[in-house]
Amino acid sequence: MDIRRILGLPELLDVKKVACVQPHPDDNEVGAAGTLYELAKRGCEIVYITVTDGSGCGSTGEVEPEAIAAIRRAERLAAGDILGVTKHIALDYPDMGSYTEEELLAKLIPIIREEKPDLLMTVDPWMPYEAHPDHIKTGKAVASAMLFSSNEILFPGSKPHDVPQIAFYATSHPNTFIDVSAHWETKIASILAHKSQFDNVNWPLVKGYFDYQGVQLYSKLKQDPDAKGYAEAFKLLTSHQLHFFPSALYS
Ligand SMILES: [Zn+2]
Repeated sequence: MDIRRILGLPELLDVKKVACVQPHPDDNEVGAAGTLYELAKRGCEIVYITVTDGSGCGSTGEVEPEAIAAIRRAERLAAGDILGVTKHIALDYPDMGSYTEEELLAKLIPIIREEKPDLLMTVDPWMPYEAHPDHIKTGKAVASAMLFSSNEILFPGSKPHDVPQIAFYATSHPNTFIDVSAHWETKIASILAHKSQFDNVNWPLVKGYFDYQGVQLYSKLKQDPDAKGYAEAFKLLTSHQLHFFPSALYS
């Protein structure tokens, strides 16, 4: 049963407004830059919601969290400019802070209701072996926010908005593959805009991993082990599949 087809939902590349909620300032680029660039070219509004300030990671030459956060903010804006991001919202929790999933959920609901996206995008919190608390808390809070943005009994105070679809990147159970071969250099450029994270001696190894992953996903998209190109992968689900829906794993 293809629930997305029954509901008449658009394909991922045909949505008009996407809200991309990332735990750290560089996650959207690593997970979805090629797809986001294609969406921007198609006229889709792209709103970035960045949960933490990224102050706990990277080689900035700074030691004070505020100074590191300022550098990472500038890098986030530069990466967004490369991709055509239309709006940035920063929640500025400390990197690896003690904020809770419930707090984040309560913050996200009014933002989602205000922005009214027709697609949410975030990290997959159920990726096996994902150990980073910011990723787990963010992915779960976004999924819950999708369920409850339309519920004004539990979350009063702003006009409900029903988000019909969610796309998880960095997922181990993708069901949607996007050909981003034409945008691979743009994706890499947007990742490298995060100089404090990637402009270092490990970059050739890291880029080699990104390239390998892109080629592997393209092979899956084309169902051809020798196919030459790059793809990104998502777990695309409807709001109905986020509660009491065991077969969502296999959709
Ligand atoms: Zn991250």
